[in-house]
Amino acid sequence: MERMELDQVKEMFGCMADAVIGKEALLTEIDEKIGDGDHGIGMARGFLAVKEQLPKMEAVSVNALFKEVGMTLLDAMGGASGVIFGTMFISGCGAVPLTDTLSLKELAPMMKRSLDNIQKRGGDRRGDKTMIDSYGPAVEALLAAEKRGDTLSAALKAARDAAEKGMEQTKDYSARKGRAEAYGDYSVGIPDPGAVSVSIIMDAMYAYAKKTEEENT
Ligand code: ADP
Ligand code: MG
Repeated sequence: MERMELDQVKEMFGCMADAVIGKEALLTEIDEKIGDGDHGIGMARGFLAVKEQLPKMEAVSVNALFKEVGMTLLDAMGGASGVIFGTMFISGCGAVPLTDTLSLKELAPMMKRSLDNIQKRGGDRRGDKTMIDSYGPAVEALLAAEKRGDTLSAALKAARDAAEKGMEQTKDYSARKGRAEAYGDYSVGIPDPGAVSVSIIMDAMYAYAKKTEEENT
């Protein structure tokens, strides 16, 4: 798959919403261990709102659709993680010219911009045991795939794998940011909840591309 039409991008966000909602219990369990236990609830609330709003979204560009999804997350989730996961989709919107299809040429710079903005706000460095440890490698995989001239699905597969690997590595880190900070070395052995969410999100994007590709061959 080289590109998604606007309707397909909407469907992809629907799949992403289902995936995150389906992992609510897992996210809660992890955040109960090294946080305050609300990450699953917050993510599920945000993506339930996305699911509900998607059919009503009237965006005529991919850029505007990403922004609307992000704004919906931001409003529904609230709090620090609402800003973080909202920004993930909101702030890429100005990184490329308005487009009604999504190819790697758009996705890579959009996600790079959103990573930069999340890092600017949160002041994170890699290894702080946050979602950046998963999202950073995912974005780098997208950029590398773009350079190689990969298809969108191949790039999403690479990004998904990089996100998962980054998430796995957060198990080794001691938390230095957010509420988990208070747990410090006690957080070693447990992945960062936000990184797990990123991994679920990237996996859903790839799964949608793969499914659509298979249906069309
Ligand atoms: P809260 O920390 O307010 O309870 P959540 O539990 O929903 O919010 O989300 C926690 C996740 O937010 C963490 O696992 C981490 O990935 C992410 N996070 C926290 N602070 C930051 C930050 N400064 N930059 C990036 N991500 C962060
Ligand atoms: Mg929490």
